[in-house]
Amino acid sequence: MARILLSNDDGIHAPGLLALAEALAGLGELCIVAPDRDRSGSGHAITVREDLHVQASTLGGRWVGYAVSGTPADCVKLGILELCGGLPDLVVSGINAGANLGIDVFYSGTVAAAFEGMLLGVPSLAISSVTDKAAPDFGAAQRLAPVLASWLLSRRDGGPVLLNVNVPEHVASPVAALRWTRLGLSRRYQDDFAPAGAEGEHTADGAKAAEGRRFRLVGDADDGDREDPTTDVGAVHRGWVSVTPIHLDLTDYRMLRALGARPGDPLGVEGAIFAGPTGRLRTSPDGRAAC
Ligand code: MN
Repeated sequence: MARILLSNDDGIHAPGLLALAEALAGLGELCIVAPDRDRSGSGHAITVREDLHVQASTLGGRWVGYAVSGTPADCVKLGILELCGGLPDLVVSGINAGANLGIDVFYSGTVAAAFEGMLLGVPSLAISSVTDKAAPDFGAAQRLAPVLASWLLSRRDGGPVLLNVNVPEHVASPVAALRWTRLGLSRRYQDDFAPAGAEGEHTADGAKAAEGRRFRLVGDADDGDREDPTTDVGAVHRGWVSVTPIHLDLTDYRMLRALGARPGDPLGVEGAIFAGPTGRLRTSPDGRAAC
């Protein structure tokens, strides 16, 4: 029987986590480890200078999960190393209330929980509902989750993988709508900080005294890749279910190739770049060091 670790970033009491447990209950034994509160936007943060507190928490009157006073990455780490009786066969994170597309993967706790599973050697799935609602209908994501989870459990080729899945809330046939995608990295946020509370008001002379003021991050995503159906952003814009395989290596091989360099090459002797007198990195025409 498969052993599946469930986590999320919306917190142990989030309806999406219960929806995920209901969807995957037939596939195996579930171990649920989730933050004790909403940790959306926590990225891959871990708790290092304080203790993690673990408490039992009931979900839907059917499951007992572990509520952890840490981040999603803490939860998966602690689940795998301490709470869930060894390495699970699969980690599934979600179902997040809201999309995790493009650069969201760097901020998302949902994706980070799955990332942590992959780092620890377990095939992992992050699943998010593309919706604007705080309380979305998770039905489509629930129909899809066991299909993708079964496929990951049956895979025997290669090492651990991470799939980042975004399911439009009302997609009628989620399996038929599945599309492989790449991250749409021209998605950017029109970041803005709105004053929050009375302290947020500007002083009479227009000076912004930061002391004691409160801010809240607001602003919508500008989905520059909306027209490109090969991206996750473009796929969900067309009503498809986006499945992006994500890997760990952030090394910029394109930059190295452009410099004629390979990992391990020295920078200034045989390598193509050299710190000139201006302190700027320069490239010589023949690819040799120059000053
Ligand atoms: Mn979330």
